[in-house]
Amino acid sequence: MNLTKVTVDDINVKGKRVLVRCDFNVPLKDGVITNDNRITAALPTIKKLIADGGKVILCSHLGKPKNGPEEKFSLAPVAVRLAELLGQDVVFANDDEVVGENAKKAVEAMNDGDVVLLQNTRFRKEETKNLEPFSSELASLADVFVMDAFGSAHRAHCSTAGVTDHIKDTAVGYLMQKEIAFLGNAVENPVRPFVAILGGAKVADKLNVISNLLEKCDTLIIGGGMAYTFIKAQGGNVGTSLVDDTKIEYCLEMIEKAKKLGKNLVLPVDTTCAKAFPDPIDVPVETSVAPTFEIPEDLMGLDIGPKTAEMFADAVKSAKTVVWNGPMGVSENPSFANGTITVAKALAETDATTIIGGGDSAAAVINLGFADAMSHISTGGGASLEYLEGKVLPGVAVIADK
Ligand code: AMP
Repeated sequence: MNLTKVTVDDINVKGKRVLVRCDFNVPLKDGVITNDNRITAALPTIKKLIADGGKVILCSHLGKPKNGPEEKFSLAPVAVRLAELLGQDVVFANDDEVVGENAKKAVEAMNDGDVVLLQNTRFRKEETKNLEPFSSELASLADVFVMDAFGSAHRAHCSTAGVTDHIKDTAVGYLMQKEIAFLGNAVENPVRPFVAILGGAKVADKLNVISNLLEKCDTLIIGGGMAYTFIKAQGGNVGTSLVDDTKIEYCLEMIEKAKKLGKNLVLPVDTTCAKAFPDPIDVPVETSVAPTFEIPEDLMGLDIGPKTAEMFADAVKSAKTVVWNGPMGVSENPSFANGTITVAKALAETDATTIIGGGDSAAAVINLGFADAMSHISTGGGASLEYLEGKVLPGVAVIADK
């Protein structure tokens, strides 16, 4: 897909103040960053703007502070790590009101190529409601706005959307550009056969994704907890497996839709079961395998079975484009991880363009050591799902077209 949005390659930032919305929502334990992937992912855009002589003002949210500023949600550790990774100073403007005296002074004192990080945007109650005056305050710091927080692009907040009411010079960063290119291409212009694999807990979370992907792909594979509602809808006995009775009708509609469109809708043929949901979740338990349509009354399906895992892996082999979102079972538990591991391996071994849609499947692929073998691992779980639903993300829509 040709990206129609202005990118950081199209703008001249020399001597200008550039506000960059990053996704620095990193996991923290006792004030220490436990995984800095999101900071690393933001570096190409930041380095480019520094090299071009911009005054680089970074902002992001971190966690979910409920009642304004809270020390444990401070971006201070991010400023330290970012300075190490960039090999240059990062001035942390530690204002509870985000755009306060520290931020204003720091920005005023900037030379070309300097970097300032603002405090957590969610310290302001307006942020998630996209309300003034926070949007205009943020905008008052800068001449240009660059959106590079794909993981937050599905939310219209002050720092992802509202700010562009006041700054007209806008662009997307490299991370956004890559996400849009891979996800957009897969959905709008896939090299076929295009196989989509969906898993995870609930059908209800992925209603629009299922419906939209059925239109776009050649084969839609459904595993994970969501499969059992489809099986029950067709008269199968699913024991005590996760089922959403309010979505039976919907599943039948999707089966009908697949038939009408001539698409393959592939469901598990066997399932790995246990007596109950594992508690604690990661303790191995005794399992047995049953056909998905004949799960004994007292058993719960917690992973796709071995036959299904091979069947799904085979379907991936002949694909040219694969999009995967959601684990095939309760992959947090080694007794129910085989399905997810087998699918991840199949994706790692195929020559197809492979796109992992954030969240649990991204974590599984990374933890299993297959990250380098994938074409693209999305940094945004919710955002990539909305993209696969065919929605226009507000944080993309607000950026100027070329
Ligand atoms: P999601 O956030 O929708 O991608 O779902 C991820 C969660 O789905 C993981 O925590 C899995 O443990 C859970 N899950 C996957 N398969 C099943 C299943 N068969 N029964 C219950 N939960 C499942």
